[in-house]
Parts: sequence; structure tokens; C-alpha cells
Amino acid sequence: MFKLKIPFNKPSFAGNELKYIKQAVLSGKISGDGMFNKKCTQLLEKKFKANSIFLTPSGTSALEIPALLLNLRSEDEVIAPSFTFTSSVNAFVLRGAKPIFVDIRTDTLNIDENKIEAAITTRTKAIYCTHYAGVSCEMDKILKIARKHKLFIIEDAAHGVNAKYKNQYLGTIGDFGVYSFHETKNFNCGEGGALVVNKPKFVERTEIIREKGTNRSQFFRGEVDKYTWYDVGSSYLLSEVLAAYLYGQLEKMEQITVKRRKIYNFYIDALSNLESRGVFKLPTIPEHCTPNYHLFYLLLNSQKERNRVMDEMKKKGILTVFHYLPLHTSPMGRRFGYKKGQFPITEMVSERLLRLPLYNSLTRNQMESITKSLRKVL
Ligand SMILES: *Cc1c(COP(=O)(O)O)cnc(C)c1O
Repeated sequence: MFKLKIPFNKPSFAGNELKYIKQAVLSGKISGDGMFNKKCTQLLEKKFKANSIFLTPSGTSALEIPALLLNLRSEDEVIAPSFTFTSSVNAFVLRGAKPIFVDIRTDTLNIDENKIEAAITTRTKAIYCTHYAGVSCEMDKILKIARKHKLFIIEDAAHGVNAKYKNQYLGTIGDFGVYSFHETKNFNCGEGGALVVNKPKFVERTEIIREKGTNRSQFFRGEVDKYTWYDVGSSYLLSEVLAAYLYGQLEKMEQITVKRRKIYNFYIDALSNLESRGVFKLPTIPEHCTPNYHLFYLLLNSQKERNRVMDEMKKKGILTVFHYLPLHTSPMGRRFGYKKGQFPITEMVSERLLRLPLYNSLTRNQMESITKSLRKVL
């Protein structure tokens, strides 16, 4: 085995995390919804101008809550891209609903808003859209379609914390938004997530679902004198220990974003001449999207070439990776009746995409070593 000089990802450390964890532990409350949960949600709600935000144990669990709030069930259909992480689709498949896949755009790799309407039937209830790489989907068009057909929009903004579409933060545009604080994301606490509830009418039931189906949140606020079982629910709170770590990251959100922008722009500057020679395609960011520089990818000219570059880079001690295997051709996708060839752009991108390391602690020397190696390999 080669000893990796540059790993693909390293969880970042912003400075105050251990201090805050110590405070949380010494405060005597380490379960959910304590002081650090409050600090995190207040910071996020204020910065993103969001109605209500709830921290959850993961982005995956946050995606499940809207499926419960909307009472999705087996006759229902939900529109989603096939080019996404399993969590965006499992969220409603767990309730028995069927995924109706739609292909992606060739530029942003987001769901193609012009192909959504053809996928709508009388059973369609919602659209789960993923903002890939922290670059927004075309929300004006998607909102218009949703209004016309009375559908709910759930934004999977796991990649998109602190990114914007026009002047709105991702996650605050649809009915619900989801963030992930997994260690591979821009701001992290190991495992963690958040749900943005943009319509006040869903807030009360979200509190109940999140507290195992009880009105314990109201009880803790002193609004009722006992709490009891009201609804379906599960355990969707984030421990204070993790919220303390997360606060150490969120308070440095702008510095972290600046750092990531520098890495992203370094790659763009160092690799543009190769792009103009047609060796690969660099990411596209539309004018009206403000990204958060979540990830950096190249689109090579073939699967064979992508795999060759990945292998050669690994020999040089640099780990580059690809994703996503299309959901529609996966064993689970096939069980829903999908076949290879149905979403050609998703299939093509999945074969040709290569991600370069992009994390907060990547050094200038490492970046130079990555682009120099790439130039040699290509
Ligand atoms: C990371 C990710 C998730 C899930 O987040 P977890 O916090 O790991 O559960 C969901 N959707 C997308 C697009 C992701 O990248």
C-alpha cells in the first residue's frame, strides 16, 4: 500500500471546539436542546434569515422529518435527482413513497428544472432537490412548478450551508431545508445536521416529531404541566457535546468560507489552461449563485481516463475520489423498475467526475503538489 501524502478529507478544527465542549460537559447538561443548541440555532436563524432551525443528529435524520410532516405514504410519488446521496431519497422511501427520478443539468449537475413537469402525476406530493456542491438549483422555476401543481419543496442543502441563490440562503427557499454537519462538510461536528422549517405552521409538529412524538418541548418551556404522546416521532435531537463542537465551527463560518474559496480559486487558476486544451471540464457556477465552495470536481472525457487519473494520483500519494453511483441503476433503484439508459447525463457524469481534496486545513504546498501531479498525469 502507498502511504497517502494527501488524504481526500480531514475534519477541520476551527479553534474553540474543545473549550466549548468542556463548558457543555461542566454545565451538567449534555443531552439535546441546551445552551449550545440554542447558540447554534440562533446564529443560523439570524444569519440565514430563517424562520426556525432545529439541530438533528445528522443530515439524513433531518431529511426524514419533512417526510413525516407531509404524511407521505405508499401511494405517493416524490421527485428527486438520481445523481444524489441515498439519504435524500431514503427519507421518503422509508415512508413507502416512490422516487420519481429526473435527470440533471450538464452544467451545475443539479436537477434539470425543465424536466420536472413531465415527471409530475396526480400522485406527486413533493420535490426533494439537492443543491450539488453548494451551487443552487434553479429555484425560481422550481418554485413556480411547485406552486402550480401544489407540491412541497424540500431542499437538500447538505452541501449548501452558507451558500446563496440570488439573495436567499440555501435551505430557506423551499418549504423545508436540510443541512449536514458531517465531518466531510464545510462546517462540522463529526455527525450532525439541521432542519430549516420555513412555514410557521409546521413548527409545532416538528417539535413533537423531534421529541419522540411528545410535547416535551412545550413542557420544558413551562407551557404545559406534563408531557405525553401526541403523534408519531423519533429521537431527532443533537447532543450538547456535539452542538458545542459545532458552535466552534459556526462562529468561524466566514473565515472557513474564505479559506475554501482560496483553495477553490487556486484550483481554477492552476487548471484553466488544461481545460482550454479540452482535457477536462471545470465546474460551472451561474452568475446568480453564490457558492460555499463545498467541493471541487473535474469532468474528464471518459470513464477510462477518469479511472486512470485517479489511479495515477493515488500512486503519487494523493487521494481523489468520485461519486455518485446513479441511484436509478443501483440494486435498490432497479427494484423500483428503473433501468440503465434512462438518465444519460446522470450516468455520464457519474462515470467521468473526479473530486480533488478540498478541506479547511489544506496547505498551499499540498495544493501545489496536487495540481502539479495532475498536470503530469494529464
Ligand atoms: C452528506 C449528505 C447528506 C447526509 O448527511 P449526513 O449528515 O451524513 O447524514 C444528505 N444529502 C447529501 C447531498 C449529502 O451530501
